[in-house]
Amino acid sequence: MMNQEIEQAEKDLLHTYNRFPVVFDHGEGVHLYDTEGKEYLDFCAGIAVFALGYGVKEYNDALKDQVDKLIHTSNYFYNEPAIKAAALVKKYTGMDRVFFTNSGGESIEGALKAARKYAYTRDGHTDHEIIAMEHSFHGRTMGALSVTGNAHYREPFEPLIGNIKFAEYNNLESVEAQITDKTCAIIMETVQGEGGIYPANPEFIQGVRRLCDEKDILLILDEIQCGMGRTGTMYAYEQYGVKPDILATAKALGCGVPVGAFAMTERVALKSLTAGDHGSTYGGNPLACRAICSVYELMEEKKVLENVNRVSIYLEQKLSELVERYDFIETQRGLGLMRGLVFDCPVNGILQKTLKNGLVLINAGTNILRFVPPLVITKQDVDDMLVILTRALDEWSYEERA
Ligand SMILES: *Cc1c(COP(=O)(O)O)cnc(C)c1O
Repeated sequence: MMNQEIEQAEKDLLHTYNRFPVVFDHGEGVHLYDTEGKEYLDFCAGIAVFALGYGVKEYNDALKDQVDKLIHTSNYFYNEPAIKAAALVKKYTGMDRVFFTNSGGESIEGALKAARKYAYTRDGHTDHEIIAMEHSFHGRTMGALSVTGNAHYREPFEPLIGNIKFAEYNNLESVEAQITDKTCAIIMETVQGEGGIYPANPEFIQGVRRLCDEKDILLILDEIQCGMGRTGTMYAYEQYGVKPDILATAKALGCGVPVGAFAMTERVALKSLTAGDHGSTYGGNPLACRAICSVYELMEEKKVLENVNRVSIYLEQKLSELVERYDFIETQRGLGLMRGLVFDCPVNGILQKTLKNGLVLINAGTNILRFVPPLVITKQDVDDMLVILTRALDEWSYEERA
């Protein structure tokens, strides 16, 4: 049954993903169930999306209520969920003005446009440059791809947007070396996700902030993956004592309802996008914004940040024990519940094994297992995960590594 469905899917869908052979049917808490009823412990959360876990009654009820009331109107008019959601995004991001999008990539597109418009308003020039980081990931749309630090992703689609320069992440001198009179923005993830789970060094991000302040360059932080409580604060930048000028958020923002946002300080907004400069038909629609409101509210109610800070210490300690135990594991790193376990070889075979044993994990780059579980996991869930993972590692090292 499941195999037939997979065969059908492979005939109909454009083959842009190498999918694992499983069809998921429903979720409950931190578990997923496939169409044949098999249970999986989920340490992927739909790529750092489903932060609250599955089947949360308050969240589901809020969405059902909104479906019956009003799903969409358009940005020609106001709607209450968007008004409430904007206030919440402001409160939690520390920014002053919000624009709602439908995805992470679109949040980056908007952030880039906002930065260019700011620079254009200031001097009327159209030759501004943006500095992005090597090994970064900002999305697959043309603008987001242009600032993604992976030549392999970019090359087939060139020419992309121009005047992008790349610097080395966590290397302040390399950023400084790329700055010119035309630099209008520096874009980076506060914790690099797809590129291998690299948190920014405090000196680096503080140094970049200083450079930006000195030269009126805008700092764009992409917290699409590392935001929304994942690192133990609602946004990761809070832990560094710096503030971005423009912030991009998405993924867990709607916990599965496709939504994103970019937000900026009033100082930037005053010289940036105005009526006619940007738009989105769906962006900020009542259903998506109701999801945002519910997610922020439930994060407070369920004391999610406290849980992240408690459980992440335990997860880190347990992953360190794996580093000690297996000679093919090199190290582990990350921040909060965004962690990578670094192998000396590709991890794809391990992922097949963990899935077979009932654990959903993904990679970040070829050699790194990525742990981005729902933010409500318990220590017991970590223990359960380790039982499956060690079994998978033992099987894999016995069968495949030899
Ligand atoms: C996932 C991700 C994106 C792109 O988001 P989409 O919703 O897939 O467009 C951008 N930046 C970062 C850091 C991400 O993790």
